[in-house]
Amino acid sequence: MAERPESNIPMRKTEETAVWGRQAAEASRAWTVLGEALSTRGVRLTIYLVLTAALFPSSRFILLVALVLSLAVVWGRELSRTGSRKIFYLAACVAILVLGYVLTRADVVRVDEARISTNPWGNGISLVADGTYQGEAWGYRGPIRVEVSVRDHRITDIKTLAYPDLISVKDSVLGPFREALLKAGRLERPALPPMYRGAEQTIEGYLNAIEAALGKGIPDYPRYNAFSQVFLAAFIGRAPDRVTLNALAILFATFLVFEYTLQSMITPGTGRAISCYNCATCVGACPIKEAEGVQMPMGLVLLTRLGDYERVMELSKYCVGCGRCAAKCPIGNSGPLVIAAAFQAYRRQQKGKGASPGEEAAS
Ligand code: SF4
Ligand code: SF4
Repeated sequence: MAERPESNIPMRKTEETAVWGRQAAEASRAWTVLGEALSTRGVRLTIYLVLTAALFPSSRFILLVALVLSLAVVWGRELSRTGSRKIFYLAACVAILVLGYVLTRADVVRVDEARISTNPWGNGISLVADGTYQGEAWGYRGPIRVEVSVRDHRITDIKTLAYPDLISVKDSVLGPFREALLKAGRLERPALPPMYRGAEQTIEGYLNAIEAALGKGIPDYPRYNAFSQVFLAAFIGRAPDRVTLNALAILFATFLVFEYTLQSMITPGTGRAISCYNCATCVGACPIKEAEGVQMPMGLVLLTRLGDYERVMELSKYCVGCGRCAAKCPIGNSGPLVIAAAFQAYRRQQKGKGASPGEEAAS
């Protein structure tokens, strides 16, 4: 009986080893799933879009339009080739967005008209109850947030809580406007002296943020309904500035470089496609030369580089496997080689989508 604790030690070690083994296997599976997801162009595109929309809110509308157009082209082709109905779902989503835009636009017009008679500008400060309120409005680089104190229907203090414009407009620019507003005790649009680029938008955003704060002190101040607020924030925001457009251009170029070159390096077996320099020697050697408008086998290599493995599968039936291209290609590429690599990649894609390997092989 006294020996039992000692005999438990190896058993415990075995259990711990088994647990580590299970954890290692789970981690390995997670990495495999992540790798497969990242090797899918749609997943990568989604990650780009989400990151860009989060980093540059003013680009959301452009991104949305680009996404809808891209999906329309891809799913339109799928409709004609496979009869897939995805494009109809896309059309339904677009119709919902258009309806949302129309409803939001109507709400914006309603609120703007109502604010003509009820707003905190000028003598409207008499409508604002005593208190401290926070408000936010878009400046030149992002949302400016302020905190405004009101006592006896006068503005007594203005604090700037968030000021993203600092990157291009000095915060000292706000000083004279703040002093002027505190001296007047109410919200007035001061005469703007000649200012450097961006400062006008910053001042406008600063005043609008103060207006938004004071509006909270007016009991029946007209406000956008919840749907409009979400729609405006999520899809429309404000017009993209030059920084956003430059960033989008850089991201687009990065996306193209990545998708056109690096993706064939990370998709196992298809990396050879990146070496092709379009000399068309293989086309001259191939007895087929062209199939469905695609030069054989150079077109297959380029489609593999682009990641269009499904199209390579469709065209592979034209290759007779004579091997002449392999004998001529200066870098050792051949139709059968890229077809085999694209088949493996296509198979992995289909597995990821849940199709059975038997179905893929049959197709
Ligand atoms: S193996 Fe295929 S692609 Fe290459 S030359 Fe022959 S038919 Fe053309
Ligand atoms: S011969 Fe080779 S390098 Fe030239 S186009 Fe064909 S696959 Fe590309």
